[in-house]
Amino acid sequence: MKKLFVSFTLVLVFIQPALAGQPEFDSYFTSGSLRVDLYHTGYEDTEYFSIDEIIKEPHWGGNHNALVDTMNLGEYIFRVFDLKTNSLIFSRGYCSIFGEWITTDEAIKGTVGTFHESLIMPFPKRAVQIRIDRRDRENIFANTFDFVVDPDDYHITTESRYGYFRTRTLIKNGPTSSKVDIVILGDGYCVDEMHKFRKDAKKLINELFSVEPFKSRRGDFNVRLIESVSAQSGVDDPRERDYRNNLLGLSFNIFNIDRYMISTANKVIRDIASKVPYDQVILLANEGKYGGGGIFNLYSAAISDNEYSKYVFVHEFGHAFGGLADEYYSSEVAYNDMYPRGVEPWEPNITALLKKDNIKWGSFIGANVPIPTPDDSTYTGITGCFEGAGYSAEGLFRSSRDCIMFSKSIKKGFCPACREALARMIDFRTKQ
Ligand SMILES: [Zn+2]
Repeated sequence: MKKLFVSFTLVLVFIQPALAGQPEFDSYFTSGSLRVDLYHTGYEDTEYFSIDEIIKEPHWGGNHNALVDTMNLGEYIFRVFDLKTNSLIFSRGYCSIFGEWITTDEAIKGTVGTFHESLIMPFPKRAVQIRIDRRDRENIFANTFDFVVDPDDYHITTESRYGYFRTRTLIKNGPTSSKVDIVILGDGYCVDEMHKFRKDAKKLINELFSVEPFKSRRGDFNVRLIESVSAQSGVDDPRERDYRNNLLGLSFNIFNIDRYMISTANKVIRDIASKVPYDQVILLANEGKYGGGGIFNLYSAAISDNEYSKYVFVHEFGHAFGGLADEYYSSEVAYNDMYPRGVEPWEPNITALLKKDNIKWGSFIGANVPIPTPDDSTYTGITGCFEGAGYSAEGLFRSSRDCIMFSKSIKKGFCPACREALARMIDFRTKQ
Protein backbone atom coordinates (compact mmCIF):
# COMPACT_ATOMS: atom_id res chain seq x y z
CA MET A 1 0.00 0.00 0.00
CA LYS A 2 2.74 2.40 0.97
CA LYS A 3 4.75 1.56 -2.13
CA LEU A 4 1.76 2.23 -4.35
CA PHE A 5 1.21 5.59 -2.70
CA VAL A 6 4.82 6.66 -3.25
CA SER A 7 4.76 5.89 -6.96
CA PHE A 8 1.43 7.72 -7.32
CA THR A 9 2.95 10.83 -5.71
CA LEU A 10 5.94 10.72 -8.08
CA VAL A 11 3.63 10.69 -11.08
CA LEU A 12 1.78 13.72 -9.75
CA VAL A 13 5.01 15.65 -9.19
CA PHE A 14 6.10 14.82 -12.73
CA ILE A 15 2.93 16.08 -14.39
CA GLN A 16 2.45 19.12 -12.18
CA PRO A 17 4.34 21.84 -14.14
CA ALA A 18 2.07 21.76 -17.19
CA LEU A 19 -0.95 20.38 -15.32
CA ALA A 20 -1.01 17.78 -18.08
CA GLY A 21 -3.37 14.84 -17.92
CA GLN A 22 -6.13 16.90 -16.34
CA PRO A 23 -9.70 15.99 -17.32
CA GLU A 24 -11.32 18.16 -20.00
CA PHE A 25 -13.67 20.52 -18.13
CA ASP A 26 -16.33 20.68 -20.85
CA SER A 27 -16.52 16.89 -21.18
CA TYR A 28 -17.65 16.44 -17.60
CA PHE A 29 -18.89 19.74 -16.20
CA THR A 30 -21.34 22.50 -16.92
CA SER A 31 -21.78 25.94 -15.34
CA GLY A 32 -22.33 26.39 -11.61
CA SER A 33 -21.25 24.31 -8.61
CA LEU A 34 -22.43 21.15 -6.95
CA ARG A 35 -22.39 21.56 -3.20
CA VAL A 36 -22.92 18.56 -0.96
CA ASP A 37 -23.68 19.53 2.64
CA LEU A 38 -22.73 16.87 5.15
CA TYR A 39 -22.86 16.23 8.85
CA HIS A 40 -19.56 14.82 10.06
CA THR A 41 -20.01 13.01 13.33
CA GLY A 42 -17.80 11.05 15.68
CA TYR A 43 -15.04 10.93 18.28
CA GLU A 44 -11.36 9.94 18.37
CA ASP A 45 -10.98 7.24 15.68
CA THR A 46 -14.67 6.79 14.83
CA GLU A 47 -16.43 8.95 12.26
CA TYR A 48 -19.60 9.02 10.20
CA PHE A 49 -20.89 11.20 7.41
CA SER A 50 -24.53 11.84 6.59
CA ILE A 51 -25.88 13.97 3.78
CA ASP A 52 -27.82 17.07 4.81
CA GLU A 53 -28.62 18.67 1.46
CA ILE A 54 -27.38 18.82 -2.14
CA ILE A 55 -27.40 22.21 -3.82
CA LYS A 56 -26.74 23.63 -7.26
CA GLU A 57 -24.97 26.95 -6.82
CA PRO A 58 -24.78 29.57 -9.58
CA HIS A 59 -20.98 29.99 -9.75
CA TRP A 60 -17.80 27.94 -9.90
CA GLY A 61 -14.74 30.00 -8.98
CA GLY A 62 -12.05 27.41 -9.69
CA ASN A 63 -9.45 26.81 -12.38
CA HIS A 64 -10.93 24.75 -15.24
CA ASN A 65 -7.49 23.30 -15.97
CA ALA A 66 -6.68 22.13 -12.44
CA LEU A 67 -9.56 19.82 -11.61
CA VAL A 68 -7.57 16.98 -10.09
CA ASP A 69 -5.67 18.16 -7.01
CA THR A 70 -1.91 17.66 -7.42
CA MET A 71 -0.89 19.34 -4.15
CA ASN A 72 -1.23 16.36 -1.75
CA LEU A 73 -2.24 18.62 1.16
CA GLY A 74 -5.00 18.29 3.76
CA GLU A 75 -6.18 15.76 6.31
CA TYR A 76 -8.99 14.68 3.97
CA ILE A 77 -9.46 14.48 0.23
CA PHE A 78 -12.65 14.06 -1.76
CA ARG A 79 -12.46 12.49 -5.18
CA VAL A 80 -15.14 12.62 -7.87
CA PHE A 81 -15.42 9.81 -10.42
CA ASP A 82 -17.49 9.85 -13.58
CA LEU A 83 -19.83 6.92 -12.89
CA LYS A 84 -19.99 5.78 -16.53
CA THR A 85 -16.25 5.64 -17.23
CA ASN A 86 -15.02 5.37 -13.63
CA SER A 87 -12.43 8.05 -14.37
CA LEU A 88 -11.27 10.57 -11.79
CA ILE A 89 -12.62 13.97 -12.86
CA PHE A 90 -12.12 16.14 -9.77
CA SER A 91 -10.44 16.07 -6.36
CA ARG A 92 -9.65 18.44 -3.52
CA GLY A 93 -7.59 18.06 -0.35
CA TYR A 94 -9.00 19.83 2.69
CA CYS A 95 -9.16 20.06 6.47
CA SER A 96 -12.19 20.38 8.70
CA ILE A 97 -13.29 21.45 12.15
CA PHE A 98 -14.19 17.81 12.77
CA GLY A 99 -10.56 16.88 12.03
CA GLU A 100 -9.49 19.19 14.86
CA TRP A 101 -12.30 18.07 17.16
CA ILE A 102 -11.10 14.45 17.22
CA THR A 103 -7.75 15.54 18.69
CA THR A 104 -9.37 17.32 21.68
CA ASP A 105 -9.54 15.85 25.20
CA GLU A 106 -13.33 15.63 25.00
CA ALA A 107 -13.35 13.59 21.78
CA ILE A 108 -10.61 11.31 23.06
CA LYS A 109 -12.74 10.66 26.17
CA GLY A 110 -15.56 9.56 23.85
CA THR A 111 -17.82 12.59 23.55
CA VAL A 112 -19.47 12.54 20.13
CA GLY A 113 -19.32 15.77 18.11
CA THR A 114 -21.15 16.79 14.92
CA PHE A 115 -19.92 19.41 12.48
CA HIS A 116 -21.42 20.66 9.24
CA GLU A 117 -19.23 20.57 6.12
CA SER A 118 -19.57 21.15 2.38
CA LEU A 119 -17.91 19.49 -0.60
CA ILE A 120 -17.93 21.91 -3.54
CA MET A 121 -17.06 21.02 -7.13
CA PRO A 122 -18.03 22.20 -10.62
CA PHE A 123 -21.52 20.95 -11.54
CA PRO A 124 -21.25 17.55 -13.29
CA LYS A 125 -23.05 16.72 -16.53
CA ARG A 126 -23.53 13.05 -15.62
CA ALA A 127 -23.83 10.93 -12.49
CA VAL A 128 -20.74 10.91 -10.28
CA GLN A 129 -19.42 8.85 -7.41
CA ILE A 130 -17.95 10.99 -4.65
CA ARG A 131 -15.47 9.41 -2.26
CA ILE A 132 -14.03 10.94 0.90
CA ASP A 133 -10.68 9.66 2.15
CA ARG A 134 -8.98 10.51 5.41
CA ARG A 135 -5.28 10.11 6.18
CA ASP A 136 -4.44 7.30 8.57
CA ARG A 137 -1.74 7.49 11.23
CA GLU A 138 0.89 6.90 8.53
CA ASN A 139 -0.60 9.81 6.55
CA ILE A 140 -1.93 7.55 3.80
CA PHE A 141 -5.44 8.23 2.50
CA ALA A 142 -7.98 5.49 3.24
CA ASN A 143 -11.62 5.34 2.16
CA THR A 144 -14.10 6.74 4.68
CA PHE A 145 -17.38 7.37 2.86
CA ASP A 146 -18.75 7.31 -0.67
CA PHE A 147 -22.03 8.04 -2.41
CA VAL A 148 -23.47 8.72 -5.85
CA VAL A 149 -24.99 11.99 -7.06
CA ASP A 150 -27.13 12.17 -10.19
CA PRO A 151 -27.21 15.79 -11.44
CA ASP A 152 -30.79 15.24 -12.71
CA ASP A 153 -32.05 14.33 -9.23
CA TYR A 154 -34.93 16.66 -8.38
CA HIS A 155 -33.82 16.69 -4.74
CA ILE A 156 -30.93 18.99 -5.73
CA THR A 157 -32.12 22.43 -4.70
CA THR A 158 -31.37 25.58 -6.70
CA GLU A 159 -32.99 28.08 -4.37
CA SER A 160 -31.14 31.32 -3.75
CA ARG A 161 -30.67 32.28 -0.12
CA TYR A 162 -29.58 35.70 1.17
CA GLY A 163 -29.89 37.10 -2.36
CA TYR A 164 -30.55 40.54 -0.92
CA PHE A 165 -26.98 41.07 0.31
CA ARG A 166 -24.99 43.51 -1.74
CA THR A 167 -21.81 42.23 -3.39
CA ARG A 168 -18.85 44.39 -4.38
CA THR A 169 -15.66 43.83 -6.31
CA LEU A 170 -12.61 45.13 -4.46
CA ILE A 171 -9.88 43.87 -6.83
CA LYS A 172 -10.49 42.57 -10.34
CA ASN A 173 -7.65 41.17 -12.43
CA GLY A 174 -9.33 38.74 -14.81
CA PRO A 175 -11.71 35.82 -15.31
CA THR A 176 -12.49 33.63 -12.28
CA SER A 177 -11.18 30.51 -14.02
CA SER A 178 -7.62 31.87 -14.15
CA LYS A 179 -7.50 33.86 -10.90
CA VAL A 180 -7.61 33.07 -7.19
CA ASP A 181 -11.01 34.41 -6.19
CA ILE A 182 -11.21 35.57 -2.59
CA VAL A 183 -14.55 36.43 -1.02
CA ILE A 184 -14.66 38.35 2.26
CA LEU A 185 -17.81 38.10 4.40
CA GLY A 186 -18.36 40.45 7.31
CA ASP A 187 -19.62 39.15 10.65
CA GLY A 188 -20.90 41.33 13.48
CA TYR A 189 -21.32 44.33 11.19
CA CYS A 190 -24.75 45.96 11.49
CA VAL A 191 -26.49 47.65 8.58
CA ASP A 192 -25.08 51.06 9.58
CA GLU A 193 -21.52 49.62 9.83
CA MET A 194 -21.15 48.55 6.19
CA HIS A 195 -18.86 51.48 5.42
CA LYS A 196 -16.62 50.20 8.23
CA PHE A 197 -16.70 46.67 6.80
CA ARG A 198 -15.59 47.95 3.38
CA LYS A 199 -12.82 50.02 4.99
CA ASP A 200 -11.62 47.17 7.26
CA ALA A 201 -11.63 44.65 4.41
CA LYS A 202 -9.72 46.99 2.10
CA LYS A 203 -7.12 47.78 4.77
CA LEU A 204 -6.49 44.12 5.62
CA ILE A 205 -6.44 42.82 2.05
CA ASN A 206 -3.80 45.46 1.31
CA GLU A 207 -1.76 44.05 4.20
CA LEU A 208 -1.99 40.58 2.64
CA PHE A 209 -0.66 41.98 -0.64
CA SER A 210 2.19 43.71 1.18
CA VAL A 211 3.96 40.41 1.92
CA GLU A 212 5.53 37.87 -0.44
CA PRO A 213 4.55 35.86 -2.36
CA PHE A 214 1.22 37.74 -2.49
CA LYS A 215 2.92 41.08 -3.17
CA SER A 216 4.38 40.05 -6.52
CA ARG A 217 1.40 37.84 -7.40
CA ARG A 218 -1.34 40.40 -6.72
CA GLY A 219 -2.34 40.24 -10.40
CA ASP A 220 -3.38 36.60 -9.92
CA PHE A 221 -6.19 37.50 -7.50
CA ASN A 222 -9.72 38.83 -7.60
CA VAL A 223 -11.27 39.99 -4.32
CA ARG A 224 -14.99 40.42 -3.70
CA LEU A 225 -16.97 41.47 -0.65
CA ILE A 226 -20.41 40.40 0.42
CA GLU A 227 -22.08 42.89 2.69
CA SER A 228 -23.55 40.31 5.04
CA VAL A 229 -25.50 42.23 7.66
CA SER A 230 -25.72 41.11 11.30
CA ALA A 231 -28.49 42.12 13.68
CA GLN A 232 -25.93 42.96 16.38
CA SER A 233 -22.40 44.32 16.35
CA GLY A 234 -19.43 42.09 17.35
CA VAL A 235 -19.24 38.32 17.82
CA ASP A 236 -19.82 35.84 20.67
CA ASP A 237 -17.44 35.84 23.64
CA PRO A 238 -18.59 32.89 25.79
CA ARG A 239 -16.07 33.40 28.63
CA GLU A 240 -17.62 36.82 29.21
CA ARG A 241 -21.11 35.31 28.77
CA ASP A 242 -21.46 37.82 25.95
CA TYR A 243 -23.61 36.44 23.14
CA ARG A 244 -24.35 38.46 20.01
CA ASN A 245 -26.81 37.86 17.21
CA ASN A 246 -24.06 37.80 14.58
CA LEU A 247 -25.03 36.30 11.24
CA LEU A 248 -22.06 34.02 10.50
CA GLY A 249 -21.75 32.53 13.98
CA LEU A 250 -18.15 33.53 14.70
CA SER A 251 -17.31 32.90 18.34
CA PHE A 252 -14.25 33.07 20.55
CA ASN A 253 -13.30 30.16 22.80
CA ILE A 254 -13.84 27.33 20.30
CA PHE A 255 -12.54 24.07 21.84
CA ASN A 256 -12.20 26.11 25.05
CA ILE A 257 -9.24 28.12 23.73
CA ASP A 258 -10.18 31.76 24.26
CA ARG A 259 -8.29 33.17 21.23
CA TYR A 260 -9.61 30.48 18.87
CA MET A 261 -12.34 32.36 17.00
CA ILE A 262 -14.06 30.41 14.24
CA SER A 263 -17.62 29.52 13.26
CA THR A 264 -19.38 26.18 13.13
CA ALA A 265 -22.28 27.72 11.15
CA ASN A 266 -21.01 26.33 7.85
CA LYS A 267 -24.37 26.31 6.10
CA VAL A 268 -25.07 30.01 6.43
CA ILE A 269 -21.48 30.86 5.45
CA ARG A 270 -21.74 28.72 2.28
CA ASP A 271 -25.21 30.00 1.41
CA ILE A 272 -23.96 33.59 1.56
CA ALA A 273 -20.57 32.96 -0.12
CA SER A 274 -22.34 31.31 -3.07
CA LYS A 275 -23.52 34.75 -4.27
CA VAL A 276 -20.15 35.21 -5.99
CA PRO A 277 -17.58 32.87 -7.58
CA TYR A 278 -14.86 32.03 -5.06
CA ASP A 279 -11.88 29.80 -4.30
CA GLN A 280 -11.22 31.07 -0.80
CA VAL A 281 -13.42 32.46 1.98
CA ILE A 282 -12.34 35.02 4.56
CA LEU A 283 -14.61 35.83 7.52
CA LEU A 284 -13.95 39.23 9.02
CA ALA A 285 -15.22 39.84 12.55
CA ASN A 286 -16.08 43.38 13.63
CA GLU A 287 -14.11 42.92 16.84
CA GLY A 288 -11.34 44.41 18.94
CA LYS A 289 -10.53 41.28 20.93
CA TYR A 290 -7.59 39.15 19.81
CA GLY A 291 -8.46 35.90 18.04
CA GLY A 292 -8.90 34.07 14.76
CA GLY A 293 -8.53 30.76 12.99
CA GLY A 294 -7.82 29.25 9.59
CA ILE A 295 -8.58 25.78 8.26
CA PHE A 296 -7.21 24.56 4.95
CA ASN A 297 -9.73 24.95 2.12
CA LEU A 298 -12.50 25.84 4.59
CA TYR A 299 -12.03 29.52 5.50
CA SER A 300 -9.89 31.89 7.52
CA ALA A 301 -11.31 34.15 10.23
CA ALA A 302 -9.77 37.38 11.51
CA ILE A 303 -10.63 40.41 13.65
CA SER A 304 -10.87 44.02 12.47
CA ASP A 305 -9.70 46.21 15.34
CA ASN A 306 -6.91 44.59 17.31
CA GLU A 307 -3.28 45.73 17.28
CA TYR A 308 -2.49 42.30 15.77
CA SER A 309 -5.30 42.38 13.16
CA LYS A 310 -2.88 42.51 10.20
CA TYR A 311 -0.88 39.58 11.51
CA VAL A 312 -3.99 37.47 12.24
CA PHE A 313 -5.44 38.19 8.79
CA VAL A 314 -2.27 37.09 6.95
CA HIS A 315 -1.36 34.20 9.29
CA GLU A 316 -4.81 32.61 9.15
CA PHE A 317 -4.97 33.03 5.38
CA GLY A 318 -1.68 31.07 5.29
CA HIS A 319 -3.47 28.14 6.97
CA ALA A 320 -6.63 28.32 4.90
CA PHE A 321 -5.10 28.95 1.47
CA GLY A 322 -1.70 27.26 1.67
CA GLY A 323 -2.35 24.44 4.13
CA LEU A 324 0.50 25.83 6.24
CA ALA A 325 1.12 24.49 9.74
CA ASP A 326 1.68 26.65 12.79
CA GLU A 327 5.40 26.93 13.34
CA TYR A 328 5.10 28.12 16.95
CA TYR A 329 5.34 25.66 19.81
CA SER A 330 4.97 27.64 23.02
CA SER A 331 1.27 28.66 23.05
CA GLU A 332 -1.55 26.61 24.51
CA VAL A 333 -3.62 24.62 21.98
CA ALA A 334 -6.56 22.23 22.27
CA TYR A 335 -4.99 19.43 20.23
CA ASN A 336 -3.43 16.17 21.39
CA ASP A 337 -0.90 14.31 19.29
CA MET A 338 -1.64 16.36 16.18
CA TYR A 339 1.66 15.21 14.64
CA PRO A 340 2.45 11.60 15.62
CA ARG A 341 6.15 10.89 16.11
CA GLY A 342 7.99 9.22 13.25
CA VAL A 343 5.53 10.38 10.58
CA GLU A 344 6.33 13.21 8.18
CA PRO A 345 3.58 15.87 8.42
CA TRP A 346 1.85 16.67 5.13
CA GLU A 347 2.14 20.41 5.76
CA PRO A 348 4.73 21.99 3.47
CA ASN A 349 6.41 24.21 6.11
CA ILE A 350 7.27 21.73 8.89
CA THR A 351 9.23 18.51 8.83
CA ALA A 352 9.94 15.63 11.19
CA LEU A 353 13.40 15.52 9.57
CA LEU A 354 13.28 11.75 9.13
CA LYS A 355 15.65 11.97 6.14
CA LYS A 356 18.28 14.70 6.19
CA ASP A 357 18.88 14.38 2.45
CA ASN A 358 15.19 14.75 1.56
CA ILE A 359 13.94 17.94 3.25
CA LYS A 360 10.87 19.61 1.71
CA TRP A 361 12.67 22.96 1.35
CA GLY A 362 16.11 21.35 0.90
CA SER A 363 16.82 23.26 -2.32
CA PHE A 364 16.88 26.52 -0.32
CA ILE A 365 19.42 25.29 2.25
CA GLY A 366 23.04 26.30 1.68
CA ALA A 367 25.74 23.60 1.57
CA ASN A 368 27.45 24.84 4.75
CA VAL A 369 24.35 25.13 6.93
CA PRO A 370 24.32 22.46 9.68
CA ILE A 371 21.21 20.25 9.92
CA PRO A 372 19.57 20.55 12.42
CA THR A 373 20.44 24.25 12.47
CA PRO A 374 21.32 25.88 15.81
CA ASP A 375 18.54 28.29 16.84
CA ASP A 376 20.84 31.23 17.59
CA SER A 377 21.45 34.67 16.09
CA THR A 378 24.25 33.36 13.83
CA TYR A 379 21.52 31.77 11.71
CA THR A 380 18.97 34.60 11.67
CA GLY A 381 17.75 35.02 8.09
CA ILE A 382 19.40 31.75 7.01
CA THR A 383 17.33 28.85 5.65
CA GLY A 384 17.91 25.64 7.56
CA CYS A 385 16.08 23.22 9.84
CA PHE A 386 15.34 24.76 13.22
CA GLU A 387 13.90 22.53 15.91
CA GLY A 388 10.54 23.58 17.37
CA ALA A 389 7.39 23.77 15.22
CA GLY A 390 3.83 22.44 15.04
CA TYR A 391 3.11 22.88 18.81
CA SER A 392 6.15 20.80 19.71
CA ALA A 393 9.53 22.01 21.02
CA GLU A 394 11.14 18.76 19.90
CA GLY A 395 10.96 16.49 16.89
CA LEU A 396 9.48 18.99 14.42
CA PHE A 397 11.46 21.56 12.45
CA ARG A 398 10.83 24.82 10.56
CA SER A 399 12.82 26.43 7.76
CA SER A 400 13.67 29.77 9.35
CA ARG A 401 14.10 31.22 12.83
CA ASP A 402 11.14 33.52 12.20
CA CYS A 403 8.04 33.51 9.99
CA ILE A 404 4.46 34.83 9.98
CA MET A 405 3.49 31.26 10.96
CA PHE A 406 5.90 31.48 13.95
CA SER A 407 5.63 34.89 15.64
CA LYS A 408 3.00 37.60 15.92
CA SER A 409 4.27 40.00 13.27
CA ILE A 410 4.14 40.28 9.51
CA LYS A 411 7.27 42.43 9.29
CA LYS A 412 9.71 39.59 8.63
CA GLY A 413 7.37 37.93 6.13
CA PHE A 414 6.85 34.24 5.44
CA CYS A 415 9.83 31.87 5.71
CA PRO A 416 11.21 30.34 2.47
CA ALA A 417 9.22 27.10 2.94
CA CYS A 418 5.96 29.01 3.38
CA ARG A 419 6.64 31.38 0.47
CA GLU A 420 7.36 28.48 -1.86
CA ALA A 421 4.26 26.54 -0.75
CA LEU A 422 2.00 29.58 -1.18
CA ALA A 423 3.46 30.33 -4.63
CA ARG A 424 2.85 26.72 -5.68
CA MET A 425 -0.77 27.02 -4.56
CA ILE A 426 -1.22 30.26 -6.52
CA ASP A 427 0.21 28.44 -9.57
CA PHE A 428 -2.16 25.51 -9.12
CA ARG A 429 -5.19 27.79 -8.85
CA THR A 430 -4.26 29.99 -11.81
CA LYS A 431 -2.04 28.22 -14.38
CA GLN A 432 -3.73 27.62 -17.72
ZN1 LIG B 1 6.95 29.61 7.57
